[in-house]
Amino acid sequence: MAVTRTGKIVVPGDFLGTTEEFTPGRGVYDDKGNIYASLTGRVRVSRQREIEVVPVVDTPPIPERGDVVVGRVEDIKESLVIMNIAYIVGHEDRNLAVSLPGVIHISNIKRGFVKDLKQEFGILDIVKARVIDAKALRLSTAEPKLGVIKAVCSSCRGVLRRKGNVLVCDECGRIELRKLSEDYYPV
Ligand SMILES: [Zn+2]
Repeated sequence: MAVTRTGKIVVPGDFLGTTEEFTPGRGVYDDKGNIYASLTGRVRVSRQREIEVVPVVDTPPIPERGDVVVGRVEDIKESLVIMNIAYIVGHEDRNLAVSLPGVIHISNIKRGFVKDLKQEFGILDIVKARVIDAKALRLSTAEPKLGVIKAVCSSCRGVLRRKGNVLVCDECGRIELRKLSEDYYPV
């Protein structure tokens, strides 16, 4: 029989060995001298032959400077856009520990002068942005690939479709402006 070693990943019910080989520790149970895993994790065998299963903790990713994040616009102030960061591009399968508020200052929206933030973003827009300051979670959309990737009509909540440099509502025909990402969809 293969000897259970430190580092092996096990699931509940996996046979780990007998009480003649090991002393049961945490994360295992002893059934008539047979030791089984009681949780999913990594086996650890101490020098005293105590066997335990340590749960594998999936540490959530933390945005770092330079990361591209995707989030939803929650509020638009006079010189700031506040968005809730949903995930880091490249870590789409892993949720963040908590929903993180990121801030885009008016000077980091795009190259050139921005007069009115409401012409660049709408509430509930889905935005792709780059982290320029990880501590304060300051973001920038001043690259062609960054900006709004999905939006709904501010009047009727219909889908906004890209037509050239503007967005047109599928439902009511309203035309809206955004700081668009090259990745905007639908087109
Ligand atoms: Zn509409």
